[in-house]
Amino acid sequence: MKYLLIVSLCILGALAKHELYDGHAVYEVEVNSIDQGKLVHDFENEMFLDVWSDAIPGRPGQVLVPKVQREEFENFLSKEGVQYKVQVENIKEQLELEDKLLAEAAVKSNSSSSRLGFDKIHTYAEVDAYLTQLARQYPNVVTVVEGGRSIEGRPIRYLRISTTNFQDARKPVIIMQSLIHCREWVTLPATLYAIQKLVVDVTESDLIQNIDWIILPVANPDGYVFTHSNDRYWRKNRRQNFSGNICPGVDLNRNFAMNWGTASSTNPCSDTFHGSAAFSEPETAVIRDIIQAHSNRLALYLDIHSFGSMILYGFGDGTLPSNALQINLVGVQMAQAIDRVKWPTNRNYIVGNIFHVLYAASGGASDYGQLFAPLSYTYELPAWRNNSWLQGFLVDPEFIEQAGFETWEGIKVGARAALANFRQRNSVERK
Ligand SMILES: [Zn+2]
Repeated sequence: MKYLLIVSLCILGALAKHELYDGHAVYEVEVNSIDQGKLVHDFENEMFLDVWSDAIPGRPGQVLVPKVQREEFENFLSKEGVQYKVQVENIKEQLELEDKLLAEAAVKSNSSSSRLGFDKIHTYAEVDAYLTQLARQYPNVVTVVEGGRSIEGRPIRYLRISTTNFQDARKPVIIMQSLIHCREWVTLPATLYAIQKLVVDVTESDLIQNIDWIILPVANPDGYVFTHSNDRYWRKNRRQNFSGNICPGVDLNRNFAMNWGTASSTNPCSDTFHGSAAFSEPETAVIRDIIQAHSNRLALYLDIHSFGSMILYGFGDGTLPSNALQINLVGVQMAQAIDRVKWPTNRNYIVGNIFHVLYAASGGASDYGQLFAPLSYTYELPAWRNNSWLQGFLVDPEFIEQAGFETWEGIKVGARAALANFRQRNSVERK
């Protein structure tokens, strides 16, 4: 009875929370040429719509449209002869469904502060306590570091995982992070699963014996807390750009010093606002510092996002790193490893350069990582198990463990390729 009451209260709280999205519809837009795709893209940006994925010929895009803008949007699409269909009439219903499913899963969860299960999406406070607890429990392998504080003063903590306390120069370093885009909740199980397999439940000891790991599960703590408390679709950090809480937030994944400001928004109201300068935000400065501190041994950098089932690499302006063939090859190998174990309802991974597969983007984390690591990728995890319900960023609790498990299959392949590259490079340098 007590559980029922808790679940009911959670659901009631959530009902009020999602009023913001009452009447928002999800459109699937199909374009027949690159030019038409660009036209739609520009119009969506002009209207400040929340574009979940851009349409290109052969791959429909998805966009969230508030009730008051639906007519204008539909008129535009009809005028330009763009095919579309309304996938979700009112996204609020799906937000409530996600809350209900996650609340039910939480009641059954057997997680504790020393063991986070893969049955629910853990909060910032839970993850933060867990990292500290893990360092206490495994002092020979795990160190927890506060890299800095977020805009609102929350610790940005990451784990250093190493059997040799980062002292062995023969080992490569791998850095991975999740939730830089805080609404992409399904990315959290991917980093937590990696931690689990490197520290708690080690079944492939080569990965921990031969490699030093840095894992940052909540790269955007303020935003992540905000997605739980106020706005499930919040993407940026919580920088106050103006007084009076008008258009807060910087898109952290446009704030890195790689082509900064060339393919992102100057408008603070935009979801891709790049900030006042590269690394203007404490959250990105923490990541910059981690990357730079390990640049001599950094072999692989992974920035985990959702959604779309993609493994993407730089650069965001369409130019390619000098070792692009190798980057592509390892990307394909990682994707194949995931595809082998993925659920059949999810599509196969796509691998490619971010500009050519998705869109032009500047100041991205993985582009910056590419300046220091021979292999650097953005993962776009699938976030739903069946396209017909729970759209986009929403998480089906039944998929949480699978998301962690299948992504780890890809990361393992990437880690071993990075290790082989690192050893080969070092042996060449010694000759
Ligand atoms: Zn993202």
